[in-house]
Amino acid sequence: MKAIRLIGPGRPLELREVDLPALGPGDALVRVKAAGICHSDAHYRAGASRVEPLPLTLGHEVAGVVEQIGPQVADFKPGDRVCVHYMATCGQCESCNRGEEQFCASGKMIGKHRDGGYAEYIRVPARSVFRLPPEIPFEHGAIMMCSSATSLHALRKARLEPGETVAVFGVGGLGLSAVQLAGALGALQVFAVDIKESKLELARRLGATPIDARAGDPVSRIRELTGGRGVDVALELIGLPLTMAQSVRVLAVGGRAALAGITTRSFEVTPYHELINKEAEIIGVSDHLAQELPLLIELARLGKLNLAPIVSRTIALDADAINQALDDLDRFSDAARVVVTP
Ligand SMILES: [Zn+2]
Ligand SMILES: [Zn+2]
Repeated sequence: MKAIRLIGPGRPLELREVDLPALGPGDALVRVKAAGICHSDAHYRAGASRVEPLPLTLGHEVAGVVEQIGPQVADFKPGDRVCVHYMATCGQCESCNRGEEQFCASGKMIGKHRDGGYAEYIRVPARSVFRLPPEIPFEHGAIMMCSSATSLHALRKARLEPGETVAVFGVGGLGLSAVQLAGALGALQVFAVDIKESKLELARRLGATPIDARAGDPVSRIRELTGGRGVDVALELIGLPLTMAQSVRVLAVGGRAALAGITTRSFEVTPYHELINKEAEIIGVSDHLAQELPLLIELARLGKLNLAPIVSRTIALDADAINQALDDLDRFSDAARVVVTP
């Protein structure tokens, strides 16, 4: 089969002809119908984030059709439409048993630690496979598995309650999902903070109150709009010291700031005024859980999570086209997504 693979860091991805993967007893072979191109893939190609073993097929946002199943797989049959959870976990270790399988000691991410979805087929444990209802196009099923899933996990970690207010810092792929998911989970008002006009406009169309951070301090603006109170939940999806600090400063009494933007940089907090005096919390968010995916899929099926404005175009399973899309991501991150449709 054809696969678009990372041969070495810092090199363009290359088309290779590889063997069809052999199935283990609990595995499913999925014919890939859609694989999202994610900003992480640009980091993997550049070598900013370690990918091994090399060469490896990238692509961790995958949807398709079950082609073949191992003898122990009872829940799926060939022909089923599915989407794929990007972590292949053991299902048996302490973390897996506690329902925190993103910390599974032997967990492997598809498209990073084992072959991913920029290929005609992908082999995954059937445990990582979820049914994709006919109402959801493959392209949406694929991109939901990364940014939308992490946005949902962030809102759950932040313990969002109906009637609460939310501020989302960074309205890219995660943010545009977060805005909609917060609304679907009952948020009273969602503020979307960004510096890009097109993203703010899209967030407004999806129901958020846009806050242009170029026009002044977004914390002051949100305080003005909430009668001085601030918000119950802030999501930081960028990973910048400035916006991380803002996501804490904007909290109301009892507020929770969930940080999902990946960075190695630090930011300052004034403990008394910003945390202690308000009993506010700062919460780390890492990936998401398989158990959250059925709810996410239902929200998409019901149209409460609309990914149509986020998918910008589809491309063929072609090394040049994928490298071009990754180059575009390297240059600037737009909210829109390119999806490979083999
Ligand atoms: Zn991704
Ligand atoms: Zn495990």
